[in-house]
Amino acid sequence: MRNDIPQIGMTYQVLNRDGVFNIREIAEEYFAQQSHLDKLGQWTHDRYLKESSHARALVRAPSADKFKNCSIWSINHYLGLNRHPYVIEKAREATALYGTGCGTSAMSGGHSQLHKDLQKRFAKILSKEECILFPTGFTANTGTIAALCRGSETLIIIDRDSHASIIDGCKASGSRYIPFKHNSVQDLENKVKKFSGKHVNLLVIIESAYSMEGDIAPLQQIVALKKKYNFLLYVDEAHTFGFYGKNGSGLCNQLGVAEDVDFIMTTLSKSTASIGGIVGTSKEFASFLRWSSSYTFQAAIPAADVAVADACLDLMSSQPAIIESLWQKTRYLRQSLLHLGFDIGNSQSPIVPLFVRDADILKKMEKELYQQGIFTIAIQYPAVKVSEVRFRFIVNNSHTLADVDHLIATLCDLGKKYGLIGADRNCG
Ligand code: PMP
Repeated sequence: MRNDIPQIGMTYQVLNRDGVFNIREIAEEYFAQQSHLDKLGQWTHDRYLKESSHARALVRAPSADKFKNCSIWSINHYLGLNRHPYVIEKAREATALYGTGCGTSAMSGGHSQLHKDLQKRFAKILSKEECILFPTGFTANTGTIAALCRGSETLIIIDRDSHASIIDGCKASGSRYIPFKHNSVQDLENKVKKFSGKHVNLLVIIESAYSMEGDIAPLQQIVALKKKYNFLLYVDEAHTFGFYGKNGSGLCNQLGVAEDVDFIMTTLSKSTASIGGIVGTSKEFASFLRWSSSYTFQAAIPAADVAVADACLDLMSSQPAIIESLWQKTRYLRQSLLHLGFDIGNSQSPIVPLFVRDADILKKMEKELYQQGIFTIAIQYPAVKVSEVRFRFIVNNSHTLADVDHLIATLCDLGKKYGLIGADRNCG
C-alpha cells in the first residue's frame, strides 16, 4: 500500500504492484489514500459548497470546521446567468407547467414541445440541419462517438488532451483510437496520411478550446485538412459556446467553418447554466443517432432545464453586453497576471491557467488562497504531468471587478512568497 501523497487519482488506468487492474485491490488502495489525505487535512477533489452555483459562495474545505465566504474560480458558468432573474423565472414557469422530471427518454414520449423547440433553436444557432438533445454533455460525447464508430471499420484520431467523455466514447466504440500531439496540425496530417485508406471511416475529434489550458484549436487548418483527406470532423464546443461567435454561437461559426464540420457538440452545463448535451449535424446523421445512440435509452432532461438553456439563449442574443463584459474581465485578469510575470500559457478563453510546476507549492497555495477567500482547484497529476501542475481560474461574468482585483493581489503576494514572480513586483 502506498503511504505517500497520492499517485492515484481520476485516471482509469491504475494498476496494482503486479501491473494488474484488480478492481477490489484498487478500490482498497483508493480508500486508503483517501483516509491518508483526510488525516493530513489535505484537500481532495471532494469539497463542500453551499450556494454552489454562484461566483461567490460559502465553501468548506474538508479540513476546515467552518464555511468561508469565497469567490469561486472553478466553475464553468461563463456568462454567470445561473442567478439571472429572467432565467430563474423561466425555470419556475416550466416546472409549474410540466412538473419535475420527464420519466423517460425522448423515444418514449419524454420530450415536450419545449425540448423540440430547443433542438430546433440550437440547430439554427450552430448552423447545422438538426440537433439532438442528450441528458448531459458527457453522454452526448460518449453516446455519439460510440454509435458512429463501432468496431474495426473506423479509425478515430483525437487530440492528445481530449476530455474524458471523448476517450470513454472511443473506448465504448471498440474502434482503434490514436492521439495526435496537442493542437499540432502537422502531427494530425502525419497520422491521417499514415492511416487514411486503411479504414472505411476516419473520424477526427477535437475540442474548440481545451479546458486545462484555455487554448483554442487551429480549426481552420484542420478543416482544410478535412477537405484534403475527406475525414469526418467532430468538434466539442463545450468551452467556446456562449462567448465566441455572433451571439455566442461558438468558434466554428466565428471562423465560418460550421457547415464544414460534420458534428458540433456543446453542453448546456456551462454558458447556458443548465444540464444537457447538444450534437448538431446533418439530417441523415441525426436520424441515425436518434435510433442508434444512447439518446434512445436515457431519460430526457426536465423541462425546467430546457427552459433555463432557452432563457440563456434569449439573453445571449438580446444582451451582447454580457458577453463583452466576460471578455473584458478575462482580458483584465490575463493581462494583469502576465504583467506581474506569471506563466499563464496560451489561454485564449476565460479559462486562465497559472503554471506552478511544483506540487508542494501548488498544494500550499491552494490552502492559502482558500484562507484568503479564493476557491479554486489545484490541477495535479494525473490530470496533468507533474512538471505542468497548475491552477486554473475560470472567469465568470458574475465575478465583480473587486473579486478579480482581490485574486490578482493575492496571487501577487503568493507568487512572490513562492518565487513564481520577481520579489520586486508591486502587488498594489
Ligand atoms: N466536453 C468537454 C470538453 C468538457 O469539458 C465537459 C465537462 N467538463 C464535457 C464535455 C461534459 O459536459 P457535461 O459536464 O455538461 O456533461
